[in-house]
Amino acid sequence: MFCGIAQKSARSAGRLAASSFKASTSSTRASLSARSLHATAPRRNAALNSTATTFIRSHNKLAADVATDTPFFIDNAFQQSAATTFVDVHDPATNHVVTRVPQMTRDELEASVASAAAAFPAWRSTSVMARQQIMFKFVALIRENWDRLAASITLEQGKTFTDARGDVLRGLQVAEAACAAPELLKGEVLEVAKDMETRSYREPLGVTAAICPFNFPAMIPLWSIPIACVTGNTLVLKPSERDPGAALILAELAREAGLPKGVLNIVHGTHDTVNFLLEHEDIKAISFVGGNKAGEYIFTKGSAHGKRVQANLGAKNHAVSLPDCDKNHFINSVVGAAFGAAGQRCMALSVVVLVGETQKWLPDLVAAAKNLKVTGGFHDGSDLGPVITPQSKARIETLIQNAVDEGASILLDGRGYKPDDAALANGNWVAPTVISDVTTDMTCYQEEIFGPVLVCVSAETLDDAVALINRNPYGNGTAIFTRNGAAAERFRRTIEAGQVGINVPIPVPLPMFSFTGNKKSIAAGGASTFYGRPGIAFYTQQKTVTALWRGEDVVAQKADVSMPTQS
Ligand code: NAD
Repeated sequence: MFCGIAQKSARSAGRLAASSFKASTSSTRASLSARSLHATAPRRNAALNSTATTFIRSHNKLAADVATDTPFFIDNAFQQSAATTFVDVHDPATNHVVTRVPQMTRDELEASVASAAAAFPAWRSTSVMARQQIMFKFVALIRENWDRLAASITLEQGKTFTDARGDVLRGLQVAEAACAAPELLKGEVLEVAKDMETRSYREPLGVTAAICPFNFPAMIPLWSIPIACVTGNTLVLKPSERDPGAALILAELAREAGLPKGVLNIVHGTHDTVNFLLEHEDIKAISFVGGNKAGEYIFTKGSAHGKRVQANLGAKNHAVSLPDCDKNHFINSVVGAAFGAAGQRCMALSVVVLVGETQKWLPDLVAAAKNLKVTGGFHDGSDLGPVITPQSKARIETLIQNAVDEGASILLDGRGYKPDDAALANGNWVAPTVISDVTTDMTCYQEEIFGPVLVCVSAETLDDAVALINRNPYGNGTAIFTRNGAAAERFRRTIEAGQVGINVPIPVPLPMFSFTGNKKSIAAGGASTFYGRPGIAFYTQQKTVTALWRGEDVVAQKADVSMPTQS
């Protein structure tokens, strides 16, 4: 189906990848304390059997006779959990079960942190040049495994294969930027007085943790793995329980690249695992990306437990159209950014603010949205796939109904949609939906819908549009479409959102910059520090050393008893 991917029957492909999760029990289970578990835990070995060229790339049901539990990753080995509770992961296009994710036991979680703690002293002492070499190899391996990673994302998350490749690329670029660690970790030195120098060093924090959302299964783990590790920290990462596959492939690639055991461990679970990480005294920093409810809780609790926390949260991103803009570019940009990934991007343009006569462009916008092909992410020509779960679909449909009930007009209704392929009849389908006549007090405006729904509001002038956007509590991103440089500049100066596009629909900066959401899109009291130089600062602490090496001391005959003035 896709260029460069070995053709296999869907059934054998299904067997292959699922059998990758088969466990072999190498010793009997025992009740062990956490620390001793690290040394002597019974190992139930597992492996990922998919390879760079052989992996599932269809929505066909997996063969029923294969074990499908997702392993965790500790000490550079995949292990099956002794869990008794699991979360089923479904292919969102069919709702076939793809794998089960364990709620790992407390002993297993303790062992994972203990492994990361044990790895830290040697890893922090490894030269930055050696760590950089591993990062170079990691980058090359991600490129080799690009399609494998993307296919895992399409299968578990639902986005189209092309879009999933973009998910991998945006994470890969963070890993590429992290290869500049020798430059980024350089300290400063100044002779502050005669024979006296102050030097600054950037040192790692210790064991760190990352808690990831479902919507970018490769990119978000890659916001943490390269930077945490290249700066000399060890990392315990929890992928979303809804789509852990890409994170596990990344762990395998990190091992192949040469990351020593324990530097990266992958754990699984839901609230219990998160609470465990937040409370563990050995964990020094937490990276969280996800919704506001979990994120505000995690920021508050993590901070209360003395951890450094970076937390990127939800969004409501507005696009502004000025009458002088390139209409075609505006419509294609907004339709792509509103409905791509089924609207499940934190930088999705979910609100359009139509200024002046651009309010007449709604029929064209609807026509372009109608034109999108909604089907399985592995299917040719798919523009958007399903949403993540039946619960998510139901929530989106309720929010559309709220809009109707509150007096808005539905210009395009994606509820009840089914793709032509009957095999996908049970998927979580919501087709592009356009809602107009919306006011800012309506639920569909106030909530982050996180689905393929575009909410349209009107403004008479640019300043009215800016005022409307600035009243919104979120501040992740925004975009203006105009040919007028002065208007764009006025927008740039007065708008409060943290990532601004000028004729650019999703203005997430590349990782030589940082992700710069603000307001309610980051945890209150937190800073926007994911990747770039702020990311290096997040994962390091500074040490300054002031040293005196006075030439005269070698020959001085008498002590100086006056107060040092350092001049
Ligand atoms: P989510 O908050 O439901 O889950 C994120 C992580 O938190 C998961 O690993 C989950 O297991 C855990 N979690 C969820 N609820 C929890 C709770 N009550 N206590 C402890 N842990 C909990 O988010 P999601 O649905 O996976 O992702 C979508 C959200 O992420 C959207 O709001 C989107 O805007 C946001 N997001 C933000 C950014 C950004 O950079 N601002 C990027 C991607 C996604």
